[in-house]
Amino acid sequence: MTHELSFRIALAALLGLVAAAGNLLGGYFVVFREWPRRYLQYFLALGAGYMLSVAFVEIIPESIRLAGENALLYVLTGFFLIHLFEHTIAPHFHFGEETHGEEMQHGHARSTVLLGLAIHTFFDGVAIAAGFLVSLWLGAVIFVAVFLHKLPEGFTIASVMLASGQGKRNAVRAAGLLGAATLAGVLLTSQFQAQLKYALPLSGGVTVYVAATDLLPEVNKEPGWRMALLVFVGVATMMILKVIFNL
Ligand SMILES: [Zn+2]
Ligand SMILES: [Zn+2]
Repeated sequence: MTHELSFRIALAALLGLVAAAGNLLGGYFVVFREWPRRYLQYFLALGAGYMLSVAFVEIIPESIRLAGENALLYVLTGFFLIHLFEHTIAPHFHFGEETHGEEMQHGHARSTVLLGLAIHTFFDGVAIAAGFLVSLWLGAVIFVAVFLHKLPEGFTIASVMLASGQGKRNAVRAAGLLGAATLAGVLLTSQFQAQLKYALPLSGGVTVYVAATDLLPEVNKEPGWRMALLVFVGVATMMILKVIFNL
């Protein structure tokens, strides 16, 4: 292994830890602090625009370079894998605060949401590591995409736990579990580098699904044009980074 590749793998592990801490922090805020709901929406709006740009402009083209046209089949698989676990097996799931206590009364509802989000966050980790296996640039832009929705993720799961009658400790633990799943995704992907041509497009499909069906609908619930406009700021941020660093 070259020196440079070992450096990128170590950086992926370190940033995987930072992302995991983001989940934990999101959970901590919902349990122990007053968290202005508005900040959460800002992250979701910026994140949605930025994530879709990274997926379409960076992850998917790079996947096609690695795996040919078959890459799009893996993108589709990643997309619907999350649809299966977040919205088919789980009867009730959405990003943001869980206010539907009655939907969460069954332990089944709670555990399926936790499973769905853990699979999603596992692929957040896969995306970070796969990005760094390709290049420093791809790893860095993917890390930002993941980090932008890490606080809302931790917030979401902790709020599901509280709505389903779980205590504060279990709410924070659940956020920690999402962080652990992210880290597991990073470490496994770094370990199985030969599978990069599957890992990258799969995580690209997951990224598109999360941004387009989990984040954007929450953004669009907000009245007025400001929140919707912020999605374009997310898109512009990615494009500006591309111009600055990747001419
Ligand atoms: Zn709900
Ligand atoms: Zn995520």
